[in-house]
Order: sequence, then C-alpha cells, then structure tokens
Amino acid sequence: MIREHGPISRSEIAKRNGISPTTVASATQELMKEGYVCEVGAGASNGGRKPILLKLASDHLYLIGISVSNFMIEIAQMNLEANISRRSARPVRSLSGDELIEAILSDIALFLQQCPPREQCIGISLITPGVVNSESGTLYFNSKLHLENIPFKQLIETRFGIKTWVENDLNAMVLAEKRFGPYGKCKNMIYVSVADGVGAGIFFHDILLRGGVGGAGELGHTIVDRNGIRCECGNVGCLENYVNWPAVYSRIFASVTRGKPSVIMDLAEGDITRITPAIFKEAIQKHDPLAVDLADEISSFLGLGMVNLINLFNPEIVIIGGSVCVDNNRVIENVRKYVASHALPVLRNLPIRQSTLGKDADLIAAASILLQDIFHFSLAE
Ligand SMILES: [Zn+2]
Repeated sequence: MIREHGPISRSEIAKRNGISPTTVASATQELMKEGYVCEVGAGASNGGRKPILLKLASDHLYLIGISVSNFMIEIAQMNLEANISRRSARPVRSLSGDELIEAILSDIALFLQQCPPREQCIGISLITPGVVNSESGTLYFNSKLHLENIPFKQLIETRFGIKTWVENDLNAMVLAEKRFGPYGKCKNMIYVSVADGVGAGIFFHDILLRGGVGGAGELGHTIVDRNGIRCECGNVGCLENYVNWPAVYSRIFASVTRGKPSVIMDLAEGDITRITPAIFKEAIQKHDPLAVDLADEISSFLGLGMVNLINLFNPEIVIIGGSVCVDNNRVIENVRKYVASHALPVLRNLPIRQSTLGKDADLIAAASILLQDIFHFSLAE
C-alpha cells in the first residue's frame, strides 16, 4: 500500500486495510528498519496534528538485474522502481558452456565491487532464454548457449551470498509488460518475441503460466511444417527456423551471394557479416524487394503461429517484441491482417501491439521478477 499509494499516513493505512493503528505502527517500524520505507513531510491535516507520511525508499536499497541473452551479458544496478543507475555489458560471442558460466560469475564479481554496501542489496535477478525452473533457479536447457542443467541460483548464492532469482526471459518480459507497460489491466496477455530465438511469455487469468518444468510458451518449437526444416531441438518444421534472425539472415545471405541486387548490401557497406536486423528493417522501409519479400514470408509463418496461440489462450492483447519484429511495421501489420482473417472469428478482435518498454526491456524484466516476488504487486487491479 505504501508503494502504490504513498506518501500515505499510518492512520490512512490502518483505515483502508481495517487493521489497528498499533499493527500498522509496528509493521512500518519494521519496514523502516529494513530500509524499504521512509518518512516524508506532513500531510494534510483535518484539524489536529498533521500526520507524518510514509513512502517507499526507492533509492535506498538496490537490486542487481542480469540478462544473459544468446549474444550479450548485461548487468545493472537498479532501484526499487526498476530504474537503472549503473550497467555493464559484454558480448557473449563464442562463449558457451562452462566458459560462459565463469564469465557471468566473474562479471558479477567485478560489478559488485562498484556497488553500494552489500546490506543494501535486496537480491540478484537473472533472466535467460531456455527452459528455466524458477523454483530451484535452474536453467534446464538452452540449446544455443550449450547450457544444460545449470543451477544458476545456487552458483550465484554460494559465490556471493546474495539471494537470487532466475527466470525465463520471456516470462520475465510479459511480467514487465504487465507491471510497467500500458496494458497492465489485461488479465490474459501474451508477449511474443522474435529475435535469435522465438518464444512467448503467457499471462493467463493473471497468473504467469510457467508449466510443469518451466517450459510453457515455447512457441518457437511449435510445428508449422511437418516436412520442414530440421530444428536444433531434434524436431522438424519448428516455427523459429522460418522467422528468427538466423533464418532471415541466411535467406538474405543466399540471395545476395547469388547476385540478387538489394539495398541491404549498401546499408551494410558491402560487408555481408555486418547485416543486422536493424539493416533488414531499414531495407523494408526503403521498399527493397528482397527485404519486403522476406518480411511478407516471415509474416505468414508468424501469423500462423500467432493464430494457434490466440485460438489456444484467447488473450486480450498480444505484445510483439524482439529484434526482428520491434519497429517492423510491415511484419506487424501483416500479422494483424493474418490474425484478423484466420483466428476464430469470436477471438480475432484483439490488439496486437509493439512493446513499449524500450531498449532496457530485458533489465526491467529481470527486475520485475524479483520485485514481484518481494512486493506481490496486485496485478489484478
Ligand atoms: Zn525445434
């Protein structure tokens, strides 16, 4: 209540919650001692002595948010509102397996040296793609980083003595959208990301849908062609091999090396290794035929995956992010049209929007997991 409605007086808290002023006094004293809450100037008085108000001490305590993606390790010091005060980043490049884990741990050690005293740190929250058991804090499986059964929570807590949370990146992302995005009132929300991998974070009846071992939302491995491309998961025809960045890049690579003219090569200054999702999107905006054809092709596969999701979960909103789709108006518009004509008629009337959390979305998502657990945001309001 202090976080959501502060500055607020102790008597107001007692009144609104129907609890005794003594209970409020002792509870708030505890929170002040722990550094979560502080007193601010007097509030409006109705005749008597002006009451002292309480508010969240957002900047006194801090948390460490970590995002380990398939290409970057990002670490940030953040306050209780998920605002970043300091950050570090390093590309993952060729690191994988044990080397990658050692790199993450040594990056954390280095980062913590510059942080305020350890007593002010409420925890570390790490997010990563793959199947994550958030209870044990174990990453079961990430095929791209060659990680299997990594007990991240245990490793970090043992090394640094700081309580740690570990979560799948897209579960964290949909929670961040719910908490910090403009669509928080929707009880059924799906976040879809198309980047190196493809996946979904699902909020179903206001509950984050994790599944039995944390593997819910593996949209990228739903099948769109039973005779299709072999996937690194062992199956064939998985959606992600038709729409993720490596798929798009290899199509561009093949066309360009066959001599098909495209503005993409100019944008990459003639260097095929410098083609990025940003260049692909710029080429679409310039109406480059190769880029436009590819955009339309990935849209139809993505639309198909989206229709399956919508027919299964009946979300009130779908939010699209990830480097291939963010600011990619052509793809998003195509997906909207596909859904509008292929999803069940009674389910197809829903907004499909872009993420609004910006470039720090990953770190905000990491913070959201920890903050949700500590504060139990009332998500349903
Ligand atoms: Zn697969």
